[in-house]
Amino acid sequence: MNSKHAALSEKFIADEPRTNWHDETLWFVREKRDKATHGLPEWEQLREWASQIKNHTLSNLNAYLTEFEEKAKANGIKVHWAADAQEHNEIVHSIIKKNNIQKIVKSKSMLTEECHLNDYLQEKGLEVVDTDLGERIVQFRKEPPSHIVLPAIHLKKQDVSDTFHEHLNTEKGNNDPQYLTEAARQHLRSKFIEADLAITGVNFAIAETGGFVVCTNEGNADMGAHTAKVHIACMGFEKIIPKAEHLSVFLRILARSATGQAITTYSSHFHKPRPDQEMHLVIVDNGRSRQLGRADFKNSLKCIRCAACFNTCPVYRRSGGHSYHTTTAGPIGSILNPNLDMKTNADLPFASTLCGSCSNVCPVKIDIHEQLWKWRQEIVKEGYVSSDKKTAMKGMSYMFSNPALYRFVGIIGRWMMRNFPNLLKSKHNLWFKQREMPEAPKKSFRDWYIDHQK
Ligand code: SF4
Repeated sequence: MNSKHAALSEKFIADEPRTNWHDETLWFVREKRDKATHGLPEWEQLREWASQIKNHTLSNLNAYLTEFEEKAKANGIKVHWAADAQEHNEIVHSIIKKNNIQKIVKSKSMLTEECHLNDYLQEKGLEVVDTDLGERIVQFRKEPPSHIVLPAIHLKKQDVSDTFHEHLNTEKGNNDPQYLTEAARQHLRSKFIEADLAITGVNFAIAETGGFVVCTNEGNADMGAHTAKVHIACMGFEKIIPKAEHLSVFLRILARSATGQAITTYSSHFHKPRPDQEMHLVIVDNGRSRQLGRADFKNSLKCIRCAACFNTCPVYRRSGGHSYHTTTAGPIGSILNPNLDMKTNADLPFASTLCGSCSNVCPVKIDIHEQLWKWRQEIVKEGYVSSDKKTAMKGMSYMFSNPALYRFVGIIGRWMMRNFPNLLKSKHNLWFKQREMPEAPKKSFRDWYIDHQK
């Protein structure tokens, strides 16, 4: 296994000021989350309820999905099932073709990103416009989103200004956020008016009512769905919750965890099509059943895509979303993606310090760092690590199980650090590649401890 993550991170961190800015910006979002959650005495109770509701739902998925389908159909929604990304894309395309539609608007949906729907439809000659501001920016730049909530967080306002100048003919060099947002607003408004079909994601699908909820801060999902004559909503099957009353738990934890807001600006409830409208729901598996069958990783399907684990992760903040080379980056991406393709994504569970901060902030209590560690074991068992790494790990294992050897290696290591620091800083020592060499301590912690006990 050659780590693609490490190679791609190297490109990102070559620009140090940008890396620092990325790190600080996401930490600012993490702090906003902390303020919003610490102000709520029942926060831990909400997390516990959310976790239990999701656990219960995953254990009774069959029943809740069947109930949801029945109720949604009775409401006049056309329900489709897709086994994988290809089937999902074909279903969406067949609806577009049947209605003879050329222009489509799409609000943020990580599922459609996962299925590469835009590329698929564009290959068929269709225009698909992403209407979330961040997604539109990365779409203009032909880049994937780098964060599931803040898709263009890797870009600074100067980058956005240059992109808009190229695509929307805004004034060169004008990077006033108000000016740029207004330009995007006018541009997107015309796209909403022209489009005959709107695609949205789904945040929560309610088995009891057959309705679903879409959360956005920009109101773009609503603009699309309310003006188009056909609305297609796409969801992974884990978006299901049993009852409408459970929304009160999830809507309170989602926005607080994502951006530190008390609630998302628009939490729109869809139950049935308007009299002049067609409404479709595509429910997608795409590897989720396989993950459900993996006892150690099943509960990763509780994820509500708030991205709190991204914002707190020291590796994500300093390596950027594109270094994860998958649609969903960050800690949750590193436990979901090996399920989709273990060989291609074998590097991701290793892109972590295992500090556990992701699990601490997760509003549905996914044991993310435990799963990262378990994936590492699976990946080694399946033979997807390089022979160098395997040999090095065997050596380390031997050393750590032999205290005398460990102490001896410590003495040699400290001596080398003092006398031949440049040898350790060589390009062959990957550990020191991006790090400052620490000063060698005078003695080991063990010796220090024994001395202080005397
Ligand atoms: S794993 Fe938890 S913290 Fe991370 S995106 Fe999902 S719900 Fe949010």
